Amino acid sequence: MAKENTTEQTWTPATMGRMRSQLLDWYERNRRDLPWRRSRNPYAIWVSEIMLQQTRVAVVIERYLAFIARFPTLISLALAPEQEVLALWSGLGYYRRARMLHKAAQFVSSNLGGNLPATAAELRALPGIGSYTAAAIASIAHGERVAVVDGNVERVICRLVGWPATGRTGAAAQRRNIEMLANQLIDPRRPGDFNQAMMELGATLCLPRNPQCLVCPLRGECKTQGEHKTVPRPRMQSREVGYALVVRPEAAVRDTETDKRQVLLEQRSASQTVMPGLWELPSLQNPAVPPQDLRMTVRHAIMQVNYYVRIRAVPVEAVDELTVAGGERRWVPLGKAADMALTGLARKVLTRAHLLPPAQSSMAEVTEEDTE
Ligand code: SF4
Repeated sequence: MAKENTTEQTWTPATMGRMRSQLLDWYERNRRDLPWRRSRNPYAIWVSEIMLQQTRVAVVIERYLAFIARFPTLISLALAPEQEVLALWSGLGYYRRARMLHKAAQFVSSNLGGNLPATAAELRALPGIGSYTAAAIASIAHGERVAVVDGNVERVICRLVGWPATGRTGAAAQRRNIEMLANQLIDPRRPGDFNQAMMELGATLCLPRNPQCLVCPLRGECKTQGEHKTVPRPRMQSREVGYALVVRPEAAVRDTETDKRQVLLEQRSASQTVMPGLWELPSLQNPAVPPQDLRMTVRHAIMQVNYYVRIRAVPVEAVDELTVAGGERRWVPLGKAADMALTGLARKVLTRAHLLPPAQSSMAEVTEEDTE
């Protein structure tokens, strides 16, 4: 019978002291200059931590700056319409995070006078704030000694003590042990910096593949010094879908838009789509597109599904015949589409078709592998 991992193999106080100072020294010299690290404002830390869940740092930087510029305080976020929040989230994927953040801001605004609680325990009690986010806010903004355990930290701890990975669903007992070890190891004098140092180590040196052990500050205390045993990922499924790209070239637009072309977009309800409330291209009834009408094929990942998306150029007069009815449809001037709450796929397609303004193109290209 397999022996359960235990925390018997923990470090002595002297070893932990050495590990803390080595890690913090390394962090001081090597930390990336990221915009949210210049602030101890709990609201700003909260926004950044939510954005960083499941989205790469390079993508988050630009979106974070725009979001904080538009919603500089919790109250300003709470007062904003959801569509505006979703529009600013566009390109980050996983829109549920934006909705939860918005709702939690409204709750704090209505019930707590706009002030986020200071302790991890109180933060965890709020709707939309889990233990990871609560620990990040409490330790970084308020100096509470509580460990942040994200995927990066979990990997570092497992490798340090020589355990295999817990897997996506995870063995509850091992997860508890990892959290216990992380809470033992955390530096009591600088918990916020220590948490960020552990996450930085996992994000830059202790990588899932090809960890950089030779330059790791914790190498001397690491039982693995390399890749650890992991659980195989669930196989991705493949699905073929089709969307219509419908553009009115000569629309009679009275305002001064430079690009007077309009694209047909659709907003669907939760019973019609996995992206309720966001603006999408109309769905084709049949994803098998004749070669002469195929505008492009796009791969787009959502959770465990790889979508192979065919985009069909559809003339205005054929929309009813070729697309699935449903949702609210709207003709949108191309100059305005970029600022709407588009799905990642719609943004990707419009960018590749050179229908979005160039300023938005680079951001959309970065989200090539995004998931929603
Ligand atoms: S020595 Fe290697 S495996 Fe161990 S913590 Fe450092 S980077 Fe990770």
